[in-house]
Amino acid sequence: MKKVILKILTLTLSVLFTLSNSVSAKTPRYPNTYSKDFMADAPWRVQGKTAKIPVGFFIKDSDYNDLPDLNSVEIYLLKKDGTQEKIYYHSFGGIRLSQVYWEWVAENFENAENTTLNGKPITAENLGYDVGDVIELKAYIRGSDQWWQGGSFSISRRLRVFVENPFPKPDSDWLYGDAHYHTRYTTNVYEYGAGMATIRASLGSLGLDWVTTTDHASNYSWYDLNESRWGQLKNEIAEFNDPTSDLPFIIGEEIACEPVAGTDKDVIHLLTYNNDSFIPGTINSLNDALLSLESRLAETESDSNNVLAFAAHPSDTTDIFGVGDIRVWSDTNFQTAMKFQNFYGLEVWNTRKTMSSTPGGNLDHINPFTGANGGWITKESEGDSGNHFLPNLEAAISKWIILLENNLNPIRKVVINGGSDAHGDLNYFSNMGFNLERLDTNDNAIGKVRTLVYAPEHNKNSVLDALQNGNSIITDGPTLLIGVDVNNDEKLVRKEGDFIIGDIIPVQNPDVIPLMISWQLYNNIPIQTINIYMGDEKIYEFRPQSDAEHGYTEIQISLENKQLDSYLRAECITDTFVNYSGFSDRYRAYTNPVWLQLSDTMKGDIDGNRSVDMRDTISILKIVAGMNPEILIRKSNEVGTDGKIGIEEAVYTLKVISEMK
Ligand SMILES: [Zn+2]
Ligand SMILES: [Zn+2]
Repeated sequence: MKKVILKILTLTLSVLFTLSNSVSAKTPRYPNTYSKDFMADAPWRVQGKTAKIPVGFFIKDSDYNDLPDLNSVEIYLLKKDGTQEKIYYHSFGGIRLSQVYWEWVAENFENAENTTLNGKPITAENLGYDVGDVIELKAYIRGSDQWWQGGSFSISRRLRVFVENPFPKPDSDWLYGDAHYHTRYTTNVYEYGAGMATIRASLGSLGLDWVTTTDHASNYSWYDLNESRWGQLKNEIAEFNDPTSDLPFIIGEEIACEPVAGTDKDVIHLLTYNNDSFIPGTINSLNDALLSLESRLAETESDSNNVLAFAAHPSDTTDIFGVGDIRVWSDTNFQTAMKFQNFYGLEVWNTRKTMSSTPGGNLDHINPFTGANGGWITKESEGDSGNHFLPNLEAAISKWIILLENNLNPIRKVVINGGSDAHGDLNYFSNMGFNLERLDTNDNAIGKVRTLVYAPEHNKNSVLDALQNGNSIITDGPTLLIGVDVNNDEKLVRKEGDFIIGDIIPVQNPDVIPLMISWQLYNNIPIQTINIYMGDEKIYEFRPQSDAEHGYTEIQISLENKQLDSYLRAECITDTFVNYSGFSDRYRAYTNPVWLQLSDTMKGDIDGNRSVDMRDTISILKIVAGMNPEILIRKSNEVGTDGKIGIEEAVYTLKVISEMK
């Protein structure tokens, strides 16, 4: 999210880096992200005891003598009784690394103390753990350096993996993803993402079906994305994606734009998905954007692909002395963006930071889990917009509602998505603190904020369609859907004719909309409240009657006296629960809207498709026969005034059809 490049900071950091590692024989071509030059990472959760637990190792700038001779990578299981057991040891025999970037992914036991495990996949089950358990690992990179001839080098990371049941899904047509994520193609003094092989190996176990690679497009010297690195990233994505689905990676960018057109001061961020060409988001050395939002969006529109553009973290701000700050998206910014048809909405939920490690603890990135129960030390205040995610999320939702209200009659969809904005950070988030004296580590990580999309084709285009049309929800826990269960099978299934979120339902005054609301719990945390909104007004609030894992209800929404288009949307919040670190927490979900498009009554158009045809006749006859017509009945399109759909309507429709011939 926050990106700072400072000349001053660069110099300081080189010093820090030298001191911290004592092995800087040559000056790196650009400063390393302190602490992220050697990394080990693993997913923060896995779905089920048989899911693989990949552990990735990265070395950045390995050709610049940070670690000329690589000896081994190792993984130890830290057992509940305080002992540790070697589960992985791979020797590299002191090879000299010559590449700029080096990555290794451990997926199977190797040289494990328990020799019966060797060759088997690293899973909770093979480690003797089950769903509900927490696996503690310690991963090492060991080598020797040139500077200290014969000297050895060892760096470790503590990693913690929750073994959970799969994320809840309404059905297999829905796919989970993270709509804001940084890979190793984000690489600057302040931030550094993860390697593609480790991400690829982790996504399935984590429960994510897709991830957008929204790396910074600052085009700043060697840093981040530029033309040539865009080409490299595309090649890597092609290598790692499943060719039949073009998933899990969806290429995109996070583009720095001027908050005020023509003024090189501060930045706002624009997310793009699916652009074919690299779109520069050039910044200067003080992190001020040099290109206007309008010009950036014009480039997205002229791209050969269908590019989706969204406002990134529209309510976040930074306030750092002397550098270009991140700014809130202003009304003017939104007016500019809405001139472009491929600007679809807002990334309202950015990051899920609720806990962090000790302020001032310089080794927190080595082991941030030093609180009670081996958890985090500090709970962030929910009112703190600089730390906890909640204030910025709520501010962004308020902004969204204004945009929704301003885009009715005619309806122009404005939709939301959410992402972790993690930089690598498969297990926990770490980057350099703004004060340069320490690392910030917190509990944000890939997929902690998720966008659940309706993508029945299970491919990239299907995911993009859902993101564009708002057939999606954002959540860090439960699922929540609203819609119209047209065929009354107690499920919302669009391919069976039901209306789901993101759909526009043509309605007539004074119809009644039977709105179905369905939900599923995450980790059995009960839902405390579900709120239903019509426009900017809350019209219904309830607590599910039971704490069963899933449930649904239907409410009747009268459109009487409604003169204009509107929309329905839902939010939910869970009961408070105590997390692994001993802190209280809650989960939330937000749906995109179902839009209600008001049109004049049309006699005989019982299914509301704006034409009187045989489908109406058949539906009417089914109603007369007491059968389910499997349509949303528009009673207001009756022919007489008896308030019933019957033979009179059937005769009328046949007459209309025959006259049309
Ligand atoms: Zn950002
Ligand atoms: Zn970002």
